[in-house]
Amino acid sequence: MLPIGVVINNLERDRLKAFAVATEEGFQIVHTSAVAESWLDGKDRELYVAAARASGLTIHTMFVGFDGQSYADWPSIARTVGLVIPELREHRCQVALKYSDLAHELGVTSLAAHVGFLPQDPTSTEYIALIDVLRRIADRYGENGQTFRLETGQESAKELLRLIEAVNRPNVGVNLDVANFILYNTDDPLHALDRLGPYIWGVHCKDGIRPATPRTLGTEVPIGQGEVRFPELIRKLMALGYSGPLIIEREHGPQVREDVRAAREYLKGLMESIS
Ligand code: MG
Repeated sequence: MLPIGVVINNLERDRLKAFAVATEEGFQIVHTSAVAESWLDGKDRELYVAAARASGLTIHTMFVGFDGQSYADWPSIARTVGLVIPELREHRCQVALKYSDLAHELGVTSLAAHVGFLPQDPTSTEYIALIDVLRRIADRYGENGQTFRLETGQESAKELLRLIEAVNRPNVGVNLDVANFILYNTDDPLHALDRLGPYIWGVHCKDGIRPATPRTLGTEVPIGQGEVRFPELIRKLMALGYSGPLIIEREHGPQVREDVRAAREYLKGLMESIS
């Protein structure tokens, strides 16, 4: 049985309270969502570290994010998300490096981020600049004994693999978010799993339905109610020798906590039926 964890800031958006909420819900292993950039220094950082430590939770992966990002719709994501926005790239690189130090202080050995929509031409100046910033981040993370995991789904597995191979650093892998391939309509999740196999170091269990029109987002739904074929997914992960946690992600919805509890039971049942 693989351990089951949760993205804690789905359960509770308040970054300090969330640690206690996850513990109350019976979780021991979590992924954390991004904090405001101002929390990476000073008093807020101290409070964050104290809350994380007091919870006793294991932070399997800390997600890096940046002020001003919006996932509201496709154009907002293109305009605001990740390390692909030229005028914000240097600043965001520095923010990503601060996250490494925060994670290090908490004993966290893996960080992850959405890079944003990749430039289409791998020979373009923009693509080369992206490779450069990812190498700088990966190298610092490596010095801190950490891996850097690119969150999947805003591009096909083939495009992501091309980027990882171009970055060419041993501590760069992926956090496989199977539903994102559906929500962004970029790939088939099981194909993606096959292609990214050895780079899959973390997994988000989320579900969704494909969008009706291109360049719009699909609809996230509770696990088991969408297009992700979880029984095959879990079987393939286990066959691949994946031994990390399955992290439940439920970003939106009227009853996130209930959905997370149901997802945990669903995943437990699936693993029992497989093993
Ligand atoms: Mg995710």
